[in-house]
Amino acid sequence: MIAVVDPSTEAVVGHVSEAGHEGVDAAVRAARAALPGWSATPLAERLAHLERLAGGLEARSEQIGLSLAREMGMPLAQAQAVQAALPVAVIRTTITAARSFVFSAQEGGATILREPAGVVAAITPWNFPLHQIAAKLAPALAVGCTVILKPSELAPLSVEILQEAARAAGLPDGVLGVVHGTGPLTGEALVGHPGVDVISLTGSVAAGRRIGAIAGAAVKRACLELGGKSPSVVLDDADLEAAVRFTVTRCCFNSGQACNAPTRLLVPRAHARAAAEIAADAAAVLRVGPALDPDSTMGPVISAAARERIRAHIDGAIAAGAQAVHGGSAQPAGVPEHGFWVAPTVLAGVTEDMRIHHEEVFGPVLALLAHDGDDDAVRLANATEYGLSAELFTADPGRARDVAGRLRAGQVKVGGVSARDALGAPFGGYGLSGLGRELGRFGLEEFVETKAVLGV
Ligand code: NAD
Repeated sequence: MIAVVDPSTEAVVGHVSEAGHEGVDAAVRAARAALPGWSATPLAERLAHLERLAGGLEARSEQIGLSLAREMGMPLAQAQAVQAALPVAVIRTTITAARSFVFSAQEGGATILREPAGVVAAITPWNFPLHQIAAKLAPALAVGCTVILKPSELAPLSVEILQEAARAAGLPDGVLGVVHGTGPLTGEALVGHPGVDVISLTGSVAAGRRIGAIAGAAVKRACLELGGKSPSVVLDDADLEAAVRFTVTRCCFNSGQACNAPTRLLVPRAHARAAAEIAADAAAVLRVGPALDPDSTMGPVISAAARERIRAHIDGAIAAGAQAVHGGSAQPAGVPEHGFWVAPTVLAGVTEDMRIHHEEVFGPVLALLAHDGDDDAVRLANATEYGLSAELFTADPGRARDVAGRLRAGQVKVGGVSARDALGAPFGGYGLSGLGRELGRFGLEEFVETKAVLGV
């Protein structure tokens, strides 16, 4: 049994039992058995199942918000607005994309068929659990694949609500299987199972490397959505105050535990001091506290190990010469004795040689760097091995297009837009941020094989 710990209280709030090789094998057999029937089910019927699933999740949103507030620590109101609402929106956007997806076309003298790729292993993290599950489940089921889900062992409890909604939606047996457990045991048993055709991971670079190696040895497709060290690029004609406040808010959202969080703020050198003051002020507004306390606007981080890792990053940056203009590695003021607390932290005076400029912290830590114009900003923005996302602030649409074209990132968001407003847009990264794209039409592409029929 794996104990699930509430990061706001350190209390055990549930258990899941870990599946070993036998449990994984049984799940794969069930998924393989269900594959012919599900892939032959007409598209409209598959999508009707997905619509019922979205409706079922929507009807259970309060329960989902509460479960996630407890198991991963997001303040309840935010958990209900984001953690519960996003998966519903993702499923519905996927349904729309699937309706116009080209499953058959004439091209190059052949009939091109896009067929379900088979049994999918979906391996997901704990930071937006049901969102990340929906981003794999919805497209895989829409195109006719069957799915075995291995959710994060750190926040697996809301998956029971998903399973209940899937049963109520009438999903046939074996179309969605769930195995709980840790990555090295359950995850690797699933990835290495010969009955799994496609792997879709959202997680760390370390897990991506390991899964990619296993998949490579078996010549299986692996879609890898990994980490990020995303820049927020502020050009000299931008509204500095608005850009900096937006960046701090986004950096600290979900206690900084978002793969696409803007964690490097690049501002014109002449504005660096003003930007640091605005950023410190914006961070000071955040109220750190337990997820179920209505006054909290930022919850704990996921675990004691995460807290120690984040604090070590902060201490390391300060030792390298950065200045904490807000927060730091000490326990934030006013938090309860139990819980995994980190203060929202703004580090000024960061330079590109520092580790804090390159390494993903996955906590509420913003690194502030000065740039010397558009070319230098682009160079700095691209000077990490990651390339998931970028924020860009300028008053000039022409400059925005020019700089966006030069940023090596899977998404460039200009002027503080929300990715939540564009859930049909492809999501994924360059470099260490991974392989493949999720959401919308691009998300569907990950789960189809291409067949050319010639001569008829
Ligand atoms: P993690 O890699 O520790 O775990 C993610 C999932 O992979 C879990 O289900 C885990 O059990 C499983 N796993 C780990 N090692 C495995 C292995 N060897 N074989 C099979 N499965 C394995 O990541 P996490 O701590 O849950 O999530 C945080 C990371 O995820 C961060 O790096 C973050 O940037 C990244 N992330 C990326 C995206 C994205 O879309 N690009 C979104 C959210 C989070």
